[in-house]
Amino acid sequence: MKVSKRALAVPPSATIAVNSRAKELQAQGVDIVRFAAGEPDFDTPDYIKDAAIEALRAGKTKYTAAAGIIELRTAIAAKLLNENGLNYTADQIIVNLGGKHSVYESMQAVLDPGDEVILPIPYWVTYPETIKLAGAVPKIVQTDPDNSYKIRPEQLKEAITKKTAMFIINSPNNPGGFTYTPEEMTALAKVLEGTNVMVLSDEIYEKLVYGKTKFVSFASLSEDAYNRTITLNGFSKAFSMTGWRMGYTAGPLEIIKAMGRLQSHMTQNPVTFAQDAAVTALSKGAGEVEKMRIEFERRAKYMARRLNGIKGVKCCEPTGAFYCFPDVSSYYGRNINGAEIKGSMDFAQALLEQANVALVPGLPFGCDANVRLSFACSLEQITRGIDSLEKWLNS
Ligand code: PLP
Repeated sequence: MKVSKRALAVPPSATIAVNSRAKELQAQGVDIVRFAAGEPDFDTPDYIKDAAIEALRAGKTKYTAAAGIIELRTAIAAKLLNENGLNYTADQIIVNLGGKHSVYESMQAVLDPGDEVILPIPYWVTYPETIKLAGAVPKIVQTDPDNSYKIRPEQLKEAITKKTAMFIINSPNNPGGFTYTPEEMTALAKVLEGTNVMVLSDEIYEKLVYGKTKFVSFASLSEDAYNRTITLNGFSKAFSMTGWRMGYTAGPLEIIKAMGRLQSHMTQNPVTFAQDAAVTALSKGAGEVEKMRIEFERRAKYMARRLNGIKGVKCCEPTGAFYCFPDVSSYYGRNINGAEIKGSMDFAQALLEQANVALVPGLPFGCDANVRLSFACSLEQITRGIDSLEKWLNS
């Protein structure tokens, strides 16, 4: 059987692999605490579901414009203006089939073979694969745990070469749970001035920021930043709509048009009745979104405190998204109940098999010293899971 070299080179998503093994064990009757999920544990609010049902009943079951219905692109433009200070026309916006699709399509629209893309560690697992699928090369930049794993301006400057086509910034960050301050972002934007480097700003966790953290869109920093930035966002995380596959991209007209051409051949439009529901989500969303944010904040504080209470575990308190990303490397080189813990993969596997706690190893995010724990689960689950983790580490 012939399979393309391109497809053979793509590994399965690491987060999906852990979840599958956890589900397998659950099916065998094992009680698993799951910290591996990358999606909110809340249901989609009813008023959004109702809007989709209404759209279906009204016969919204046919193709729409490939880039999405004008009502939705107009609503997104209004959101970006009112909440992010970004002035985009509806033509500068394309609705994609989830943020993952936005990432893939924007890279296909911008990158050529041999281009370099600056990617700070830790990175979301999908970025390196989508960069490579566009024939480009990820230029991985090591970051410093003392700077909460955020790239510094001098590191960005050093990474730029004649081949650099793009810099990816993801704030709030998956898996790091950190958020860049407006000052840190401005310093990064200054480094890019006078270069041809585009920015892909993945803002999918925008609504989930904690404490005094202030979210800022990269494109809003200056006119220069606006002109070089592709802003990516979606409905999955903010509105608990992961299964609806609704994401969007805003940016320079030429790039959005190129994405539209690609999309017209790849997928055509996002799901028609989901687009109507997304309009409703944007128009009535704030109350439900804030309730979820408050609950996530409570869990973030609790989980980080508990993790830091375990000997040899170091964890920054998350300022955004729904992940803790502790350094557990002080346990590497040890043997726990017969399992050699050489790195994050062994750590995650042994923890799942021996203590029935599922988390994601840091290696696929570029950080083998760390593991990722999602707090998209109840406080009771968090308490139970961290108790088990602590007991396992002490065993
Ligand atoms: N960007 C980041 C950083 C993510 O973590 C995810 C999902 O996990 C996405 C984008 C895409 O989300 P979706 O495809 O569900 O819209």
